Amino acid sequence: MTRFPGRVVGASDFGPARPPALSDAVLRLIWEERRISRAEIARRADLSRSTVSEIVETLLGTGLVVEAGEGVSRGGRRPIVLEFQDASRTIVGVDMGAAHVTVVCTDLRARVLAAAREPHPVQADPEGTRQLIRRLIETVLSAGGEGARDRLIGIGIGVPSPVDIRHPDRLSPIAMPAWDGRHGLAALCADLRVPVQVDNDANLGALAERWWGAAQGLDHFAYIKLGTGIGAGHVIDGRIHRGASGVGGEIGHIAIDPRGETCNCGNRGCLTTFVGGPALAARIVALRAVYPQSLLADGHPTLARLEEAARVDDPLALQVIHEVAEHLGIAIAGMLNLLNPAAVILGGRIAGLGEKLITPLRATALRRTFVPAAAATEIRASTLGAQGIAIGAATLVLDTALHDPRRLRPILDPRVTD
Ligand SMILES: [Zn+2]
Repeated sequence: MTRFPGRVVGASDFGPARPPALSDAVLRLIWEERRISRAEIARRADLSRSTVSEIVETLLGTGLVVEAGEGVSRGGRRPIVLEFQDASRTIVGVDMGAAHVTVVCTDLRARVLAAAREPHPVQADPEGTRQLIRRLIETVLSAGGEGARDRLIGIGIGVPSPVDIRHPDRLSPIAMPAWDGRHGLAALCADLRVPVQVDNDANLGALAERWWGAAQGLDHFAYIKLGTGIGAGHVIDGRIHRGASGVGGEIGHIAIDPRGETCNCGNRGCLTTFVGGPALAARIVALRAVYPQSLLADGHPTLARLEEAARVDDPLALQVIHEVAEHLGIAIAGMLNLLNPAAVILGGRIAGLGEKLITPLRATALRRTFVPAAAATEIRASTLGAQGIAIGAATLVLDTALHDPRRLRPILDPRVTD
C-alpha cells in the first residue's frame, strides 16, 4: 500500500482553495491504492455504497479512473476493480536554478516522461531565462508522448528565491536583483491555458523527497539544496515551515564567520560564502598553490571535476570537501538543535559527492549538537538526483490535483460540476 504523503501546501498563481468535496477524497483514495473496488472505497472512506457509485460514475467520465476487471470475491459476486490511470494526464515541472533550467514532463505518479536541461545565467538574464523555460516546456511536451500537451493539467515551477504564498508572482529582490521583483512565469505560459504554481526550489526538493525519495514517511525533516546558492525546506509536522513572511529556512544566510566575506544579502560570512558554488570554485583556485599536483590544479573548476577528483582521493578535492563538511556541519548542528528533524536530506549537484561528503559532515554536525537532538537525526543524500526539484515542481501540481481537482479545471470534464 502506498502511504499517502499528506499535504505540503504550495504557492499558486490562481484563486483560493474551495472546501474539499467528497469526490476529492475518493479520487485520492483510488490514486493512493491504484486498484480498489467500490465496496472497499465505501468502507475506507466511510461512505454509503450509493454515494460511492455516484462519485465513481463521475470519475469514470474523466478518464482518470477506469474499470479494470474483476477482483477477489469475499463471498457473493466478484467486485469490479477500479484502477487509477497515471498516464491519463501530464504535468510539467520546472526547476529554475541560479545557473541552469531543468524541465520535466511527468505522468500522475511523477514518472518522468521527458526531460530537458540547459545551463543558463538565470540570475543575470530574466528575459532569456523566460524564453528558455518556454522553449524547454515545448521540448518536453513534444517528447512526452502523443497528446502530452492536450493532457497537461498544470505547470509547477521552482525558483531560487523565497516565495510568499500570498504573493506567488513575486521574487525576492535580494535573491534575484536583476528580476525586478517579478518572475512573470504565469503570463509566459498563458497560452497553454493551465494553472501555474510557483514555490521556492528547496521547498519543492523537500516535497519530492517526501513523496518519492529519501524522506518518505517522515513528518519532520529538512532538505538542503546545495547549489550556486544554499537553500533549505523544513517540513515540520508534515507541512512546509514558511515562517511569518515566507522566508523561513534560509540556511544559506546563517552567519558562520561574522568577519567573513560579504554575502549578496549584505551580511558577512554567511554559509553561502563558504559552500555556495562560486565559493567552492574560488577555494579550489586558491588551494592550487598548496596542491600543484592535483587533478584540479588547472582549468575551469567545476563541481563535476571536483566529484571526479574526489573519487580518486585527490588531496585538493578532499581538502575542499573537508572544509565544506566543517562549515555545513556547523549550520546543520544549529538546525538540529533548533528543530530536531528525523533526517536531513542533501540535494543539488554537490550531494553527488555522497559518503565522501556525508561521513565528515555527520561527524561535525554530531560533534556540535546537543546530543539527544543529534542522535535521532540521519543525514542522507537525495535519491532523486539532478531532476529532484523539477519532480518536486510537478508534485506540487499533483498534490493540488489530488486535494482539490477543481482548482485544476482541465483535470475534470467540463460536464462535471459537483
Ligand atoms: Zn547572506
